[in-house]
Amino acid sequence: EAITVADLAQKLALKGGDVVKALFKMGVMATITQSIDHDTAVLVTEELGHKAVRADADDAETELLAHAEEITGEQEQRPPVVTIMGHVDHGKTSLLDYIRRTKIASGEAGGITQHIGAYHVETDKGVISFLDTPGHAAFTQMRARGAKLTDIVVLVVAADDGVMPQTKEAIQHAKSAGVPLIVAINKIDKSDADPMRVKNELLESEVVAEDFGGDTQMVELSAKTGAGVDDLLDAISLQAEVLELKAPVNGRAAGVVIESALDKGRGPVATVLVQQGTLEKGDYLVCGVQYGRVRALFDETGSQVQSAGPSIPVQVLGLSGVPDAGDDFVVVADERLAKDVAQQRDAKRRESRLVAAAGNRMEDIMAQMGAGSEQQVLNLVVKADVHGSMQALRDALTSLSNDQIRINVIGSGVGGITESDAQLAATSKATVIGFNVRADASARKVIEGNGVDLRYFSIIYDVIDQVKQVASGLLGVEI
Ligand code: GDP
Repeated sequence: EAITVADLAQKLALKGGDVVKALFKMGVMATITQSIDHDTAVLVTEELGHKAVRADADDAETELLAHAEEITGEQEQRPPVVTIMGHVDHGKTSLLDYIRRTKIASGEAGGITQHIGAYHVETDKGVISFLDTPGHAAFTQMRARGAKLTDIVVLVVAADDGVMPQTKEAIQHAKSAGVPLIVAINKIDKSDADPMRVKNELLESEVVAEDFGGDTQMVELSAKTGAGVDDLLDAISLQAEVLELKAPVNGRAAGVVIESALDKGRGPVATVLVQQGTLEKGDYLVCGVQYGRVRALFDETGSQVQSAGPSIPVQVLGLSGVPDAGDDFVVVADERLAKDVAQQRDAKRRESRLVAAAGNRMEDIMAQMGAGSEQQVLNLVVKADVHGSMQALRDALTSLSNDQIRINVIGSGVGGITESDAQLAATSKATVIGFNVRADASARKVIEGNGVDLRYFSIIYDVIDQVKQVASGLLGVEI
């Protein structure tokens, strides 16, 4: 069947003129509105450096979905997956190391635990899995890729330092992801530790301890001496019980890639977290745009295992290439399907990368939300040079909300726009407003890569005016 040059250009995210030029070079004279046949379209697509995908490209994904339906077995209880966040130097790594060192049953490789991106521990109250990369970037990157991995966030706050900017940032991230928090008040072995001060400071972020009448568990501990660490594990198990985490245990596995690398001797290595079903040695799987047959599985002690069930991290050998962290994986019936899906995804991903860079502008997002929903929402991340401006902006912008539109400041703070701000904006499709502050280099990379809408201002009135304009434009009325 035929396609117009304009349509083809659009599919390839190229200018019509570029396709016309490429056709001309191939000896085909066509204008933008003219149609070209299928074979010519494939040729010019490849000439332009793209991979041609047949129109029935969705078939393999459809077959995959049919498979996915087969694997939804009976729901059983599963362990919680925990991410540790908090301000720099408050003890995230120390806590992860302490738990790893003392709580992982030593494996056959002499009990030497390896860093594979995640680990699980067995306590008398049940199994707990920890993502082994502390910090916000990992958490938000995973979210940006659409992976909801974390069930519980442990927020580490040093008792001698109190609530700091990244503490607040972590709270914002957890809240916007809808993940419950447990606070680990760390370094209580230090003479100047003041846990009460931490609890008081957290009130400002609306994180209220149980002994203050709130519902956030707070555990005092020391990642250095280990005091209180068991209490933290108990608190996690308790929170997990409340969450009633469930997944089918039997049947084909599906989950998410946590970490990946190309190992000189072993080839592509990926640590995956199984989210449902049971991953077994010998399984065929699709993993992002990679595929393969599981040649071997290793746990965090470096021991070979035969299988891994829900919430259990495991290292996979046997993939065709290195998948990205945040990619999903799913086990399929045979190699052919695995390969088909992986290849089609690869082609699609290339296409969508080009398109993504153009998306995400404030107006587009507003338009996308459509007329169907009752109240439109505009998410904003507001950074300012001084606290007063930040507060004034936040209040003024929020008060622009009415029945038809809600202006939602999902993140705000004093200081330059950081990578973490940009990640939050990317995942929440928010517009970033910099008031007398600018984005640093790593933030700019995220902003450009995700097509985040970033706007700089130095007059408060201008910010309000522009946000008003966008909102009015969409609603078709003055606000
Ligand atoms: P991160 O940046 O949050 O990962 O913090 P680290 O785990 O690297 O810890 C920062 C510093 O605090 C290191 O020098 C640790 O040894 C120290 N530290 C961490 N936890 C404790 C603790 O409970 N007590 C004491 N005294 N020092 C700690």
